[in-house]
Amino acid sequence: MEVIKDINEIRTRIRDARKSEKRIGFVPTMGYLHQGHLSLVEISKKETDYQVMSIFVNKMQFNDKNDYKNYPRELERDFAMAEKAGVDLMFTPDDETMYINPLAYVDMQTLTEHLCGAYREGHFRGVFTVVSKLFNIVQPDVSVFGQKDIQQAVSIEKMVFDLNFPVKIIIAPIMREKEGLAMSSRNKHLNEEQRANALYIYKSLQKAEVMIESGETESGKLSFAVRKKIEQGKPDRIDYVSVVDYKTLQPVRKIGEKTVIAVAAYFGSTRLIDNMIIEKKDRGYLCIY
Ligand code: AMP
Repeated sequence: MEVIKDINEIRTRIRDARKSEKRIGFVPTMGYLHQGHLSLVEISKKETDYQVMSIFVNKMQFNDKNDYKNYPRELERDFAMAEKAGVDLMFTPDDETMYINPLAYVDMQTLTEHLCGAYREGHFRGVFTVVSKLFNIVQPDVSVFGQKDIQQAVSIEKMVFDLNFPVKIIIAPIMREKEGLAMSSRNKHLNEEQRANALYIYKSLQKAEVMIESGETESGKLSFAVRKKIEQGKPDRIDYVSVVDYKTLQPVRKIGEKTVIAVAAYFGSTRLIDNMIIEKKDRGYLCIY
């Protein structure tokens, strides 16, 4: 695996890979890798021949200075994991390389008004801008994003469609710890008690699944039950428990063809997010989380 910071060098490597008819797969990350990140590479390998990963802690998408400052960083460990997972090219740009003009940005006004968009000002502008820049640099055929960050994944899919990026977006399943906590680089900040309490997020989604299986379709009842369950874990704050349409990310009164229950809650100063996709099937609903 080659580790490169320079944009022109990345372009040269990509050009060479293309010359040998390779299709380019790309997994953008902020590092401190875990199995969730590596599962995206696995999926990318099934569709493409040359794997590119980026690690860049994108200041522009942090609305909280401390969150940015304390974001876990451990590049050498990441490189070893990425190489083992089959990454061919690792792009690790620095801030000066990525931020040339702070007044140049990409933003979307759809899909971002609810969920995290309502609580993290400027977050999605930072995400759209960095992903656009990375797509322009790497020019991948395929890029894989995690369902874990559902609002990000759905709105990047939309951005790619609306702005005609020639990239296929794949949304990959959520990887979880043994007991069910969604893997996240930020989990590192949880102490033992918080980690145990955070499990109530997973339990709250299980609870919603049981309710849906027994015929409940009303968003109000589902979100109330999910919230109650999370509260058993004594979160320091719940930002939201929302039931939204998968395509529009607008709140719905009842679950429909494809719906998302999304949650964000703080345990200590660590903000965790999780979600479940609910798909209508011939008989009942399929819950994916
Ligand atoms: P991050 O490094 O947190 O910005 O995440 C990079 C990519 O990994 C994003 O597409 C995330 O959605 C995805 N990701 C993060 N956590 C998980 C997880 N537990 N399972 C699957 N994908 C994940």
